[in-house]
Amino acid sequence: MAKTNPALGIIGGGQLGSLLASAAKKLNIHTVVLTDDNQAPAKHFCNEIITADYSDRAKVREFVNKVDVVTFEFENIPVNILEGIAQFKPVFPKPAINKIVQNRLLEKQFVNSLNIQTTLFEPIKNKLDLSSLKHFSPAILKTNTLGYDGKGQYVLNNQKDFDDLNISFDQDYILEKKIDLDKEISVIVTRYQDGTIISYEPIENVHKDQILNQSSIPANISKNLFEKAQDQAKIIAEKLDYVGTMCVEYFIDKKNNLLVNEIAPRVHNSGHLTINAFNISQFENHVRAVCNLEILPIKKVKNAKMLNILGLDIEKYRDKKFSNNEYFFDYLKKEPKEKRKMGHLTTLVD
Ligand code: ADP
Ligand code: MG
Repeated sequence: MAKTNPALGIIGGGQLGSLLASAAKKLNIHTVVLTDDNQAPAKHFCNEIITADYSDRAKVREFVNKVDVVTFEFENIPVNILEGIAQFKPVFPKPAINKIVQNRLLEKQFVNSLNIQTTLFEPIKNKLDLSSLKHFSPAILKTNTLGYDGKGQYVLNNQKDFDDLNISFDQDYILEKKIDLDKEISVIVTRYQDGTIISYEPIENVHKDQILNQSSIPANISKNLFEKAQDQAKIIAEKLDYVGTMCVEYFIDKKNNLLVNEIAPRVHNSGHLTINAFNISQFENHVRAVCNLEILPIKKVKNAKMLNILGLDIEKYRDKKFSNNEYFFDYLKKEPKEKRKMGHLTTLVD
């Protein structure tokens, strides 16, 4: 008898959860999304949705009972909730990984422990710690946990910015030296349960106001950096005993040094172009890995660039006519808030 596909539970119902659910549908995999957002766009893409606070035990149990394996679209779910779920159903990637990558300090220490370079950094607990590190300037102060899309970050370009910064220090911070960037790239890898790693080629990323604006392949980098970035991402996935798709974001400085910026233990915005540019997308590979399906080789179909569409800009695109090398994705979010990721456009190029 043919093996039946497992039902996949996805925690989080934003654009990443939606795109995961779409990829699962293509593979005939039933998806159940658990989200605390009653306007979660994933409702348009999954088979079933449960809306509840993540601490609502009865609802979480209902979710767990409906699925065979669980994954998540974002790394900031409390680890104890993921660990609770893991007592009943496999959770991939393993919840313990989140303890490291949820925390910028532990994440950088982990990366450095693998002999992989990051920016210079120091933990900051209070104003005194910060004042003693003015020589780091120009620098960026970031909350240790819960930041995304540049949230919780303060750029300190000179010593006066250090003096003027007026924040309460009610949480832990990390101070990073600001890099004089030549470029930013990311590498997306999928690691399967048998340890096989599939790596996409490096993607070149441009950020605006600390939010990803554009991604493209091929990245305009040397063969040496291309290989080094892929090798480092593979080492990180192996050392984390990772299962699923993950992303390593890198800085390249003006002296061509490759530095790990951060690890995303999930599918990643810079990999949206893999939906159209490859035979198998980062989302499909994630679903295949966590559901233990067949491993297929990836093949690039075309080069591509992807543009993020934020806030009210989405309205222009909803009315637009596209050529046949353009692929518009509307996340169907209710409110087009400023800087909110509302959709993206991928253009295939030669
Ligand atoms: P988030 O978790 O919000 O993605 P990141 O640490 O990746 O936070 O920062 C977002 C963007 O801000 C980066 O992709 C980069 O463009 C810029 N940035 C962050 N840290 C530095 C740094 N130390 N030097 C230079 N640019 C930085
Ligand atoms: Mg980032």
